[in-house]
Amino acid sequence: MATDFRSDTVTRPTAAMRAAMAAAPVGDDVFGDDPSVNALQAEVAELLGFEAALFVPSGTQSNLIGVMTHCARGDEYIVGQQAHTYRYEAGGAAVLGSVQPQPLDNAVDGTLPVAAIEAAIKPDDAHFARTRLIALENTIGGKVLPDGYSAAVRALADRRGLALHLDGARLWNAAVKQGVAPRIIATGFDSVSVCLSKGLGAPVGSVLCGHRDFIQAARRWRKMLGGGMRQAGILAAACRHALLHHVERLAEDHDNAARLAAGLARHGELDVGSPQTNMVFVGVPADIATAFAAHLGAAGVDITGTTRQRWVTHLDVARADVDTAIAAVDRFFTRRA
Ligand SMILES: *Cc1c(COP(=O)(O)O)cnc(C)c1O
Repeated sequence: MATDFRSDTVTRPTAAMRAAMAAAPVGDDVFGDDPSVNALQAEVAELLGFEAALFVPSGTQSNLIGVMTHCARGDEYIVGQQAHTYRYEAGGAAVLGSVQPQPLDNAVDGTLPVAAIEAAIKPDDAHFARTRLIALENTIGGKVLPDGYSAAVRALADRRGLALHLDGARLWNAAVKQGVAPRIIATGFDSVSVCLSKGLGAPVGSVLCGHRDFIQAARRWRKMLGGGMRQAGILAAACRHALLHHVERLAEDHDNAARLAAGLARHGELDVGSPQTNMVFVGVPADIATAFAAHLGAAGVDITGTTRQRWVTHLDVARADVDTAIAAVDRFFTRRA
C-alpha cells in the first residue's frame, strides 16, 4: 500500500463521515433553506468568534471573496510572496477582482515584518492604488505565526484604517499546536477563511467568517463566482462531522511529522527542517535528489519536490506508515553506503 505524503488534501471521507453525509437534511442553500449548511455556518462563526459565516466550495474561492468584499476595483492588498492567496490562486484577486496585490517577502518565521507592511502602505495620491487590506496566513508553510504577531498587525491596521484578512486554511493546526481555542487564532481579524478539506478530511468545503454585513456582501460575490450551491448540506454534513471528530486528532499528525523528521534527520545528507505542525521540508543534495525521489516512488512513498521535498502528514497517514517510509529512506542510504 502506497502512502501519500503529497498533501493533506488527499484525505478521503471516513465511513462515519459518509454515513453523516447520507443522513444529512438538505434544502436549496441559494434560498438559504439548507439546514445542514445553516448549522455549519452558525457553528464555525461561533467557533471563530464571528457574527456570521458563509459556506463556499473551496479555500481559493473563500479568499477571493474575502479580498473582493474588502476591496473595490483599483484597491490594493498587502500579502506575502509565499502566501497561498497571492501565489497559488491563479492571480484571481487581480484578474477577477481588479485588486492589485502588493506582495512582500515573508520572514523565515512566515510573518510579514510590521515595518515592511507599514512602508508598503501607499499615500493618498492619484499615482497609487488605494491600500485597503492586509492578508496573513496561519499556519504558513506549516509554521504557526508567533504569539503577539497578529495583534501587532491589527494595531497597525487600526492606525492606518486597513482591513485584516486571515487565510486560515490550517488554522485548526495552529490552534491544536498552541493548545488554544480556534477563536484565539482568529482574534483581531475582520475576516477569516478556513478549510475543512485539508487535514480535517472533508471532501469539499471552506467557510468564510466576518461581520453580518460583510457576509451579506460576500454572498453576492459567491453567487457571481459560481459558488452558490443547492443541496450543499451533503457536503456541510461532512464538514460538521470533521469539526466534531477530526480537530483534536491533528495532534497525531503533528507527532507523526516530528517522528518522520527525526527518522529522516538520521541521514546527514538530508537537510531536515524541524516541523511545527504537519509539514516536513527536506533539502536533498542535487546529485542524489532524482535517484532518491525515484526510490521513494518505487517504494510506495509519494511526496512532492526533488531537491526540496515536502512531506505532509494527515488523517490517512498512520504512525506505521511513517515507520514504513523511514525504513524505505534507510534502505536508500544503506544501499549507497
Ligand atoms: C489549500 C489552501 C488554500 C485553498 O484551498 P482550496 O480548497 O484548495 O482552494 C488556501 N490557502 C492555503 C494556505 C491552503 O493551503
